[in-house]
Amino acid sequence: MALRNIRLEGDPLLRKTSKPVKEITDRIRTLAEDMLETMYDANGVGLAAPQVGILKRMVTIDVSEDGTEPMVMINPVILERDGEQTGPEGCLSLPGLQGTVTRPSHVKAEYTDLDGNRCTVEGDDLLARCICHELDHLDGVLYRDVAEGPLVQVSASDDEKEEEEAEEE
Ligand code: ZN
Repeated sequence: MALRNIRLEGDPLLRKTSKPVKEITDRIRTLAEDMLETMYDANGVGLAAPQVGILKRMVTIDVSEDGTEPMVMINPVILERDGEQTGPEGCLSLPGLQGTVTRPSHVKAEYTDLDGNRCTVEGDDLLARCICHELDHLDGVLYRDVAEGPLVQVSASDDEKEEEEAEEE
């Protein structure tokens, strides 16, 4: 496993549309491991392949408090969106920033797992928000595009404040 560099806003790659994964190869398995490691290292709850420079439709997510529920979603598609939630959102590609985004409060999504099985997942609250945010990355959309008003700078040096901030996706 290895840490990968996270691309930051301004990198044109983040604005491109990612291509479907055709086959679960060793390279894809390694990418999944690296993305999870990179996501945990950066204290994120989600990461999309284009954020590490790979234009493939693949995201990793873990919204558990102790980082014990890793999910790798390959070729994910949102099937259903219900309800609405408005709250703070951040992104590892836009460090130190936060914005208010309205997302569905519940989504049902379909994806392929690392064993090649097509699976469905239903998520509420943070998981629903995270799935929407990460899948947007696969189409070159950043949360700045859908945030209400300008993003705000949040302090990265004040530990107490950091705990109150939204978890970065
Ligand atoms: Zn993001």
